[in-house]
Amino acid sequence: MNAAFNLSGKLAIVTGGGSGIGLGIARALAKAGADIALCGRRLSVCETACAEIRQTGVAAEAFRCDVSQQNEVEAMVAAVIERFGRIDILVNNAGIAGAAQPFLDITLEQWRQTIDINLTGMFLCSQAVGRHMVREGHGKIINVASVGSFLPLPCSADYSASKGGVMMLTRAMALELIRHNIQVNAVCPGYITTELKQDTIERVAEKAARKVPAGRIGRSEEVAGVVVFLASSASDYMVGSSVVIDGGIMLK
Ligand code: NDP
Repeated sequence: MNAAFNLSGKLAIVTGGGSGIGLGIARALAKAGADIALCGRRLSVCETACAEIRQTGVAAEAFRCDVSQQNEVEAMVAAVIERFGRIDILVNNAGIAGAAQPFLDITLEQWRQTIDINLTGMFLCSQAVGRHMVREGHGKIINVASVGSFLPLPCSADYSASKGGVMMLTRAMALELIRHNIQVNAVCPGYITTELKQDTIERVAEKAARKVPAGRIGRSEEVAGVVVFLASSASDYMVGSSVVIDGGIMLK
């Protein structure tokens, strides 16, 4: 492996890393040598993922945490530091699809839940981990945004607003934190199939693929490779970038 991509000796937190794109990212970071801390609301899901990741030969530990709850985020970050003594990489991946309702039908409760998890959760995790990274003098924060950060999709006002916010939060954090040698960047996936969503996505895959210039849905590994790059020293001069991984959707 090119030394610039080697993450041995680093500790990466992946929020929502027990399943889907987050699990793909955690597997790829582990293959690059990083120890892994996974968090999500379902501890058992994260524990199962950690058991698999340990087979790669790295350490992996599961932590229960709802990223929208400040006390849970602070407790999770403290527990990770106690267990591993360091945090070098934060991947803010935890997210929900949102209400999937026409704009006029979205309830305030649905709106708040989507913003709380997708945007406020990222703010809380980045602040708690960012303070540690400032003390250490280095760090990499990678936010999982979406093509929805740029393109409004039908029935996704809450989701699109949250992901648009994620993109601007990424840029604002990047501007302030680079002086502490912390690089903040985002990845913006298009349609990505994951194990959990296989059935659903396969049902719409043919229709969706027609909208994708690449002619197919993406895979979580195809997002994960970019995240490994953004977590590595190979990307040290990338500050506040949003890397689109969408099979060309944004070209249309
Ligand atoms: P999944 O539903 O497969 O995974 C989401 C993960 O986030 C789960 O592990 C879930 O675990 C966790 N999560 C959800 N809410 C919370 C919370 N409040 N606190 C902590 N963890 C939470 O979705 P994907 O893998 O598809 O999505 C991952 C990210 O990628 C999201 O941010 C999504 O918006 C983004 N994305 C996905 C695309 C796709 O096509 N799949 C396209 C573009 C972006 P638990 O329920 O146990 O908490």
